[in-house]
Formats: sequence, structure tokens, C-alpha cells
Amino acid sequence: MERRYNTKSAFSCIFALMNIERKRFYHSLVFPFFFVLVIWMVKLSELVLGISLVHFGIYPNSPEGLIGIITSPLIHADFEHLYANTVPMLTLGVGLFYFYNKISYKVFFLIYLITGLWVWFGAREAYHIGASGIIYGLASFIFASGIIRRDMRLLAISFITVFLYGSMIWGIFPIYKKISWESHLMGALAGIVLAFIYRKEGPQRIRYAWEDEPADDEPSLQIESPEKKEKDASLNYIYNEEKKGLYNINYTVEMGKYPWHGMKPWNDYSSYMKRTFSYRVQKIAVNAGFSCPNRDGSKGRGGCTYCNNETFNPFYCNPNKSINKQLEEGIAFFSDKYKSQQYLAYFQAFTNTYASLEILKQKYEKALSHPDVIGLVIATRADAMDDEKLSYIESLAKQYYIVVEYGVESTKNETLNFINRCHTYEESEQMIRKTAECGILTGAHIILGLPGETKTDILTHAENLSKLPLHTIKLHQLQIIKGTQMALQYKESPELFTNYSAQEYIDLAIDFAERIHPSIIIERFISESPVDLLISPNWGGIKNFEFVTMLEKRMLERGTWQGREA
Ligand code: SF4
Repeated sequence: MERRYNTKSAFSCIFALMNIERKRFYHSLVFPFFFVLVIWMVKLSELVLGISLVHFGIYPNSPEGLIGIITSPLIHADFEHLYANTVPMLTLGVGLFYFYNKISYKVFFLIYLITGLWVWFGAREAYHIGASGIIYGLASFIFASGIIRRDMRLLAISFITVFLYGSMIWGIFPIYKKISWESHLMGALAGIVLAFIYRKEGPQRIRYAWEDEPADDEPSLQIESPEKKEKDASLNYIYNEEKKGLYNINYTVEMGKYPWHGMKPWNDYSSYMKRTFSYRVQKIAVNAGFSCPNRDGSKGRGGCTYCNNETFNPFYCNPNKSINKQLEEGIAFFSDKYKSQQYLAYFQAFTNTYASLEILKQKYEKALSHPDVIGLVIATRADAMDDEKLSYIESLAKQYYIVVEYGVESTKNETLNFINRCHTYEESEQMIRKTAECGILTGAHIILGLPGETKTDILTHAENLSKLPLHTIKLHQLQIIKGTQMALQYKESPELFTNYSAQEYIDLAIDFAERIHPSIIIERFISESPVDLLISPNWGGIKNFEFVTMLEKRMLERGTWQGREA
């Protein structure tokens, strides 16, 4: 298939993204400027008509004062008061509409109404006027939301808010009689309450795929275990050795006592890690500053059409930091979540064998010298491995837990060509066999649903991979990520893509697992890219562990298990 990508298309993709962001920014200006225009018009009308609208303020606990809940934020005592509210209304308003655009109107008007209502119920008997209650509400909403969501961008906005309006804190105390500190206090409380209520709506903390590595933090499932099923529902698992020849395995076991000695109907990574290590082991991603032959021109340019390394680069992964520093920061992040761990340094970004042997030695050994690191997981491509490197990694594998993970992505060369992988399936197959022959654990990464691939193609991938001496497989759904060449292609030729729903993908992943040999550990079924970068599929922010729960339930419903068709 003809390759249709060029620098021009990459640039047009970047410009398209810049346009989207610019439009979003302009859109976020509209309402705050409109609101500010209205309050200035009200004040100018008072001046021109020689009237005072102060009695349209909130007068607490009086029926006439109720109208003030709607009108009071529009009225200001004088131009000084108006000016003091204009700048924060614009900055905080734009912040709200830019970052929380889907819930911004809801939040703005709820702050508006709740603040007014609470002031009417609980404030001193006097006319309360001005938009400052809303401003306090916006500031506290943005600040509290950023903290609740633990999103770096939103946290940054929160701290900027504190920096710019930190002195506002004094406004919620009854220090100056002329100031409606009650409006400030009620507004601030309304903002905090709404930040909590809407914590699951609007922008969410970017959750990176690496946070699920490895997946042995999945919560226990609330579904019936296979052993609890009625006896006549139990099935006999018979593995047909003749189909394989690679492994000397022959099982006849009841469902629920799977050949991998786990309780899940697939050979899951979490159970494997628990069986293998007596302590919790966590992968820590490291960006060692490698490049990729598919980007620097030695094999190709522009990279694989779906690739955006940002989707799996944690915040601490920065090649400008030393490997030790990245490990320390990663360990600090995970040790907050889990106790007593050992770690695998996960060389994940780009192609982690794409350098001279000397450089590889320096980087790997640096990671292994960390006292808490017990091994390495090295993500790479088959064409970036050679005998010299294999022999070195073999020597490491004798002392440490080492896995070399190959990006296979598809077993169909036509697809590999179309997605600009610049290597063939045969190269991956050959290198996986060679690596396993050296006694090194091998992994394969595969994407389900690449453009032009049918269900038959996808199941053929499972059958092909199942014939290889693999230790682990990672599969995940195709994700169209902003800023990639595939995003552009998706826009131009959507007919090339199958948009699986979550349920359809679950059934596809189960069909796939049925064809994977039971000795191969399935490390993951899906990937979660940051929602801000994801174009398709939109599965409503489904989390890895939720997906795995649904998949297990579906496997039990279907009465099936990994390797059933292998
Ligand atoms: S997926 Fe891997 S091989 Fe492809 S461009 Fe990205 S880093 Fe390079």
C-alpha cells in the first residue's frame, strides 16, 4: 500500500491543533467579557439616568430583597468598586471557561445563585451588592478543583489564583464594615462545594498508562468466582498440544483451576508477579534519551503514524534528568501509594536499544545500581537489536529480572507498511525467537484495530503470536491521538477505521485471548491515553481496572478462558 505521509501533512496537523486551542481560548473570552460589559452598562446607565440601583441588592430575610439574588452581582457602588471586580472577573472567568468549558456555565450560574441565596439567608441586614461573591466563588472553585483533580495544569492555575488573589482571603472576615464579607465567604464556600460536587465532571487528572504498570493493583472483583459456579456448569479445559509443539504442556483441568494456577480466566500479570516475587514489584518508567530509527531517518521519518510518546511519558520521565533522579522521583510517586516495593526500571520511551553497546551498558547499569531496582524491562523494536546487544542482555538476565519487550503491533506486513513501522513481522518473529533462545524473557506489544484490519486479521495475529516463545503480551485498542499522522488520516478517511464500542472491544479481546497459548501472560488488554489527547475511541473515561472487571465478567458469562482455541 502506498505510504501517503509527508512533512507537509505533519505540519498541517500541528496547525489544525493550534487552531483548535486558539478557538477554545477565544470561546472562553466571550462570556466573561459579556458579563463585564453588562456590569459596566448597568453602572453607566445609573450615571446617565441619575439613578441608584442599590435597592436591587440582596436585603437578607426580606421578600423584597429576594430579587437581589439575581440582580445584586450586576450592581456596584461606584467605579472604583466596579474596576476592582472587573479584572478578577475577567481572569478567573476566562480560567473557568477555558479549563472547565463543559461545566463552566453550570458552575458560574450555580455560584451566582447559591451565593446570593446564602447571603439572603445569613448576612447582615443591609443591601449587599457587587460581583465579588461570584469572584470569590470562581477563585475557590478553581483552586479546590485543581487540588481535588491533582492535575498539574489545574494545580498551576490554582497556585496562580492564590498568587494573584491570595490577599482575597482577608475579604471573608468581618474586618471592614462597609465590605460584604458575607458575600465573599458564601461565594468561597459555594465554589468549594461545587468543586467537590463536580469533581468527576469537566477536565480530569491526566492518567497515564504508566500509572497502571504493572497491573497488580487491580481491586478485587465483585463477581462470582468460577469455583462457585454450579458443578454442571464446570467445563473441562483440554489443551491440544499438537497444535503447538513449542511448550511441553498438556492439561485436563476443571474450569477455575486454570493451567496458569490463577483464578482469572486468563494468565494475568498481577497473579504472575505475586507468584514470582514475595513482595510487590512496580515498574518505574525511565526516559533514557534514546531516539528511534523510525524518526531520525535511518529507517523512516515521521515515526509510526499512531505514535505520540507523550501518551506514555510520566511527569518525572525527562531525559534531562539523570536516570537515578527519574527513578527516585518515580519511586517517591509510587511509594506514596504502596508500601514495601521493589522496582523494575522500565525503559519505555522510544527505542531503548537504539544506541551503541557502550551507551546501553552505561544506562542499564546505572538503573540496576539503584538499591531498590531488581531488574529491567526494555521496550524496543526488533530491528534495533543485534547479537552483540543480545549477548550483553543475556549476561544481565543471569543476575537480574530482565524482559525485552518488542513492538510487533501487527503480524500483517501490509498493515505495518501502512502505519509506517518500517519493519516486517518476520523481523519481529525472528528476533523474538533469538531473544528467547538466549534465555531472555520476551514480550510483545500489539494493537487491535489498526486501519484496514478485519476481525479475521486480528485473530490471526493471536494465532501467530501464540506460536512464538513469548513470556508476556500486551494488547490494546487502537487509539487515535491528537497530533499524530493517524489523526489526520482518521479525519480524511474514517472508513479505514473500525470504531469498536467498549463492549465490542471486550468481545474482540476475549476472542483474541482464546487464541493465545496459556503459558503466555497477558499483561494488559487496554491502554488509557490522556483524555485531552484522545480523539477516538471515546469510552467515557473507563479505567483499566473497570475494563478488566467487565472483561472477566464477560469471559465467565461466555464460559471461556485464555487458550481455549489455541
Ligand atoms: S512507536 Fe516506537 S518505533 Fe514507532 S515512532 Fe514511536 S517510538 Fe518510534
